[in-house]
Amino acid sequence: MTAALIDGTAIAAKVKAQVAEGAKALFEKTGKRPGLATVLVGENTASQAYVKSKRKACADLGMESFGNELPKTATQEEVEGLVEKLNADPNVHGILVQLPLPDHLNEERVLNAVGIDKDVDGFHPVNIGRLSMKGRKPLFVPCTPAGCIVLLEEVGATFKGANAVVLGRSNIVGLPAAMLLLHRDCTVTICHSRTKDLPAVCREADILIAAVGRAEMVKRDWVKPGAFVIDVGINRVDDSTKKSGYRLVGDVDFDDVKEVAGAITPVPGGVGPMTIAMLMKNTLRAAEAALGVL
Ligand code: NDP
Repeated sequence: MTAALIDGTAIAAKVKAQVAEGAKALFEKTGKRPGLATVLVGENTASQAYVKSKRKACADLGMESFGNELPKTATQEEVEGLVEKLNADPNVHGILVQLPLPDHLNEERVLNAVGIDKDVDGFHPVNIGRLSMKGRKPLFVPCTPAGCIVLLEEVGATFKGANAVVLGRSNIVGLPAAMLLLHRDCTVTICHSRTKDLPAVCREADILIAAVGRAEMVKRDWVKPGAFVIDVGINRVDDSTKKSGYRLVGDVDFDDVKEVAGAITPVPGGVGPMTIAMLMKNTLRAAEAALGVL
């Protein structure tokens, strides 16, 4: 069997088109555009590239973005002071603090400082707490896991009663992905580096989300025939045929697993494009709420 390809680029384009329409309607009603403030501390090249692509997405969709850069020597007080200033700025509807922060900064305190109504990354403990509780609604859900759910919905996955396995328990992907699946009535297993016999646990999955950061770890014999496989991983492997000297692969051995899965995301072109699309969607919603048109 060859799995159906879950085209994250196409699905993200659909989400972005809806956001662009929403931003246009908001502007027509209020004369205001949704505004995303980015906070970048230091000169990490990957972080700079991520921020650039998020700001470009804003421009493409008719949204404002406000870049804020601090040197890598910035103090905790300076970073929190900047966040407070953005909290008070009515033109800023969403605040994105690009992670990771330099080691001397306390990430938890910085994320706590973001107002929950501008927490478009969904990382504030109140939003994560609500996501983790039954019957509570977070204002925002973290973008990568939310994107995984949209991909599954778009390809017609059944959630109710499905066995879902999430590989990874990070605050930004694994844990919130598991919570989202639980809210959709999946029976959820969360795996991590201490889990025994990972292949056997994964083989039970009707839905498998891999977010471990280990190149091509998930093999064909880990996957139940017909399962939906979402690969969050982004890993560089050496490739002398590429100008850059490397290529990107996921946590799933795509060529091997596509022979048994029912549907699978590629890397690149799967979850990656969804993350930015969901950030844009969260920013639009933050603006709609702030401007009273929700
Ligand atoms: P983290 O390093 O924060 O978490 C990795 C998780 O995987 C941990 O829970 C860890 O377990 C677990 N793990 C690591 N090795 C193993 C192993 N051998 N067996 C079982 N579990 C293991 O990573 P992130 O969650 O931040 O990211 C995961 C991947 O997703 C990365 O490749 C990252 O680049 C990618 N990513 C992609 C995004 C996108 O937009 N597509 C966005 C964010 C991340 P333990 O807790 O026990 O240490």
